Amino acid sequence: MIDFSLTEEQIELRNKARKFAQEKMLPYAHYYDKTGEFPWPIVKNAWSEGLMNLGIPEEYGGPGLGITEACIVVEEMAAGCAGMTTSIYANSLGPEPIIIAGTDKQKEKYLKPLTEEVKLAAFACSEPGMGSDVAGIQTRAEKKGNHYILNGSKFWITNAPQADYYTVFASLDPSKRHQALCAFIVDADTPGVRTGKPVQKMGHRASATSAIMFRDAKVPEENLLGSEGMGFLIAMQTFAQTRPAIAAFATGLARATMEYARDYAKKREAFTKKLREFEGIQFKLAEMYMKIEASRLLYLKAAWAADTSGDSTVPASVAKAYATDAAMWCASEAVQIHGGYGYIDQYPLEKLFRDAKLYQIYEGTSEIQRLILARHVLDGYDPAMEEIPTWARMDPPEF
Ligand SMILES: Cc1cc2nc3c(=O)[nH]c(=O)nc-3n(C[C@H](O)[C@H](O)[C@H](O)COP(=O)(O)OP(=O)(O)OC[C@H]3O[C@@H](n4cnc5c(N)ncnc54)[C@H](O)[C@@H]3O)c2cc1C
Repeated sequence: MIDFSLTEEQIELRNKARKFAQEKMLPYAHYYDKTGEFPWPIVKNAWSEGLMNLGIPEEYGGPGLGITEACIVVEEMAAGCAGMTTSIYANSLGPEPIIIAGTDKQKEKYLKPLTEEVKLAAFACSEPGMGSDVAGIQTRAEKKGNHYILNGSKFWITNAPQADYYTVFASLDPSKRHQALCAFIVDADTPGVRTGKPVQKMGHRASATSAIMFRDAKVPEENLLGSEGMGFLIAMQTFAQTRPAIAAFATGLARATMEYARDYAKKREAFTKKLREFEGIQFKLAEMYMKIEASRLLYLKAAWAADTSGDSTVPASVAKAYATDAAMWCASEAVQIHGGYGYIDQYPLEKLFRDAKLYQIYEGTSEIQRLILARHVLDGYDPAMEEIPTWARMDPPEF
């Protein structure tokens, strides 16, 4: 038998995150979207409530929860405010390379402090000249004595201006692509490390995104994660662990758009009827519901794969590609149901529409997820038909 139900602990966690999102995030979402301020009070509150750093193992002071629990929490939070959730969840993405490849000493030094006080970490992979093609990283790491010297720039790094440290991907020799990539832990106050001003964004304005510049930044060799050349693998393993949560973010946002649209359709009248009475509107709501249900099942399956087999690459790509497209579709249709009110900032839909777009871009674009899946179908997939039978036979085998 397959069991689709959550455990009692998971339901309790979901209810806690839902209450937090509705009481401590949603009422402030418009304010932070308008001002672009970093939502420190919300982040601190999430930390105090135990809704941050969920994946940090118990031996390093964290709750040691799985990807499934992280997904359950972020679905609720993203329904409250996508930008704030990005700020909060970046603390799962940033330290993930340490959880995957760190030594005990590195974990003790860099994971534990996140659980002792409100500290932020950021994941620094993308660069001004590359995002999708991780093997094309140009930031250089040069070994000198017992240090690595980092030179180059990172771009679009979530929480860069606030983070205490970054997990940074750099190359010993860019011409060797995957083989020369390394992952490092870099303290933000390292001489030669500087962050740019937060960039103005279409959405997720309650999260800060900026460049990080490295100019002869000296990083001690004990801050290398794994060994030289393991950077690409660590980055891919990180995405396999964190992409299910991006699908969960998208599911939460899509759910919010449906709930606003449902409410509006019950109140707004046109042609002397409530919108809810028009079949054209009902079908949009039905389609939203189907997409949200499918998204949730897909992220839960991907999270389950991450928590059990450890290899969630394919289900994570399925979930991320599907749920993020679904969220964009739902946001667009919910704007449509709101008519002109969907387009103005006195209603939440225009923000949700802007916020939805990022899900199709960060942590691997929709196209990159499809590349991963196409590779799987062509080269990894185990076909059910042992061999492709001859189709047009006039001499079929006897029964
Ligand atoms: C708000 C925000 C926050 C972010 N936070 C972080 C962060 O914390 N850390 C971090 O490291 N990065 C972060 N990013 C970067 C993000 O992951 C990249 O923007 C993303 O991976 C895409 O890279 P790119 O923008 O360079 O696009 P490109 O790689 O230049 O791609 C441009 C377009 O071409 C498509 N494309 C590229 N290659 C192919 C192909 N082979 N086949 C078909 N289509 C292709 C892409 O899908 C995309 O549509 C963030 C980005 C944003 C906008």
